Parts: sequence; structure tokens; C-alpha cells
Amino acid sequence: MKQKIYEIPIWEAYETKNCECPLCSIEKKSDDNFIQTLFSEMVMDVRLNPHLVENYDFCHEHFEKLYRYPDKCGLAVLTNRILHLKKEALKSSELPRKSVSKNPIKKLFIKNIETIQDKKECLLCNKLDESMNNYMKTLVNLWVKEENFKEIYKNSRGFCLKHYNQVLKISSVIINNQLKQEEFIEITSKIQEENLNRLQQELEWFISKFDYRFANEPWNTSKDALIRTIQKLIGNYNTKI
Ligand SMILES: [Zn+2]
Ligand SMILES: [Zn+2]
Repeated sequence: MKQKIYEIPIWEAYETKNCECPLCSIEKKSDDNFIQTLFSEMVMDVRLNPHLVENYDFCHEHFEKLYRYPDKCGLAVLTNRILHLKKEALKSSELPRKSVSKNPIKKLFIKNIETIQDKKECLLCNKLDESMNNYMKTLVNLWVKEENFKEIYKNSRGFCLKHYNQVLKISSVIINNQLKQEEFIEITSKIQEENLNRLQQELEWFISKFDYRFANEPWNTSKDALIRTIQKLIGNYNTKI
């Protein structure tokens, strides 16, 4: 069996031992790669052509992530452009506001301007969503066509709740065969349920370990059960812990 290049990250993520969500581990790597590309290529482009920034923005999480990257000068160049554009946007939304008085049509017009500005989305979130969508499609297709992958999938730990819902949604769109589709949903929800139960047991043992009666008992696999449970609940992409 020859692996296609875009399938390799999926196989690699499923090889990672004790991984609570293989898609989270792909998402984290992709995000790091996008950020690296942003600094190595885009910052340079923005220096040459400041208008490149016009169509994007960053969300709260990504601005924090960008700030943790060592290239503070590069980030300052980008941030300066965004600040400049925000100021321009403020100016243009303030002008009609002064003359709006009580005219309801003008009020509506201003409301529309604000809505359009609010709609501006995070460049990195957009890129990440697009690439994760492709990875999820690849994952489901691998399950359909590769017996070997099907076996690995069956013994995996499922997904975080976000990716669990997304994978099920995508599978219902791309698996055409009704029986196959039902089989996928059944095995995926079974794995998910078993693993949530397993995680809960680990977390409960973690809690018990704070009781003096169990202080000398072994931790077993529970030492990192708290962080793994949090990651299962919200994904590990935006957890800093
Ligand atoms: Zn996940
Ligand atoms: Zn974002």
C-alpha cells in the first residue's frame, strides 16, 4: 500500500501513542506551520506591499499565539498595518454617524457598515478550517478504502468533542454508501463512548489520589488525566497548558 503525500499526516497522527485526538495533533502542527509561513513569507510581502493586510484580521487566540512567536519586529509590522486600517475604518464609520440625527434609513446604513466590519474573519482560523476540512475528508476516505487504517481507527481513542462532531458531519456528506455510512457512525460513536468512559475513570482515580487513604497507591495512567480530559472537551489547539 502506497501512502499519498496528503494522507501521511493522518497515518502519523494515528501512530502517536495515547493520543486523545489525532485531528487535534494535526491541527496544532498545521497551525504552527501557518504561523511560521506567515512570519517567513507574509511579513516580508507586507513590508513590500502594505495593502496585503487589507483583507485580514486575527482572532484573540491567534494574536496571542503570534505574540509568543520570537519575531516581535515582524509582528509589529503586521500589527501596525492592522492598527492603521482599524483607524481608517473608525474614521469612515464616524463620518456618517455625526450626521445621522434621527433619520432611520441613515441609521440602518450605519448598522450595515458595522456588520460588514464585524464580519472580518481571522486569516489563520480560515486557513486552518480549510485545511482541517480536507484532513477530515482524507481520514474518512482512508477508513472507507484501507482495511489497515480501519483496524487502527477501531483501536484509537476517538476524538475531542469538536472533531468528533465535525467528522460525523463530514462522513455523512462524503460516504455515499448508506451501509458504510451507518457502519462509520456506529464504530465512531462506540469508540467515542468507550474512551469518554475510560477517561472518566482515569480522572476519578486522579481525584481519589488527593484523598490521604489512596496517597500511597500508584497513579497508574491518571497523572495527566486532568489535562487529557480538558483536551478531550475543548481540543488541544488553543490550550496553553
Ligand atoms: Zn480534536
Ligand atoms: Zn484565529
